[in-house]
Amino acid sequence: MTKADTKAVIPAQAGIHPSSPVVAYIALGANLGNAAQTVLDAIQAINDLPQTQVTKKSSLYKTAAMESLPGALKSPDYINAVVEIICHQTAYLLLEQLQKIEQKAGRNRPYLNAPRTLDLDILLYGDAQIQTETLTVPHPRMWQRAFVLVPLEEIAPQLVSAERLEGVKGQGIQRVGIASPDAVS
Ligand code: AMP
Repeated sequence: MTKADTKAVIPAQAGIHPSSPVVAYIALGANLGNAAQTVLDAIQAINDLPQTQVTKKSSLYKTAAMESLPGALKSPDYINAVVEIICHQTAYLLLEQLQKIEQKAGRNRPYLNAPRTLDLDILLYGDAQIQTETLTVPHPRMWQRAFVLVPLEEIAPQLVSAERLEGVKGQGIQRVGIASPDAVS
């Protein structure tokens, strides 16, 4: 653990190699180039991570980009999805590996909410509550975002209440891919 992690609230399963598999949920988003293909490739890359298996994947969804810079040209729409994984990694190792997948996809973040080739967020990692400099789980903004809650509800309806969904009802989101709850081969 680094100095930066001194305010950590970390259950054993998050920071120590888990002895039993952990079910986690990852949000994917892309809005540059062939965003749908980038998301599909990223799902495959996550499944290819060591000791990690994608067990459910949502449909692909299209959502409008959040405003980036005031007065800037509007960013292209996002393609979003959520996957469920079973992994034997610590949450920190998982984050590191997801960041490598982002970098391989050519991610570049010149400013807040800038368009991005690929964004991967850990939404939930078992029932861990993590609050450190590098990692916050559950993801702090997940309950306010339709592009997270709608695909999450598709693959894990037990995690998203009707009230939560109602709270993001006004946000435009459109399903663009065929639902495919099967595991990645
Ligand atoms: P963003 O690209 O805007 O999602 O932010 C990436 C940064 O958020 C990275 O530096 C991560 O260390 C940090 N971070 C904190 N919590 C999470 C999380 N649950 N999933 C992914 N990144 C996270």
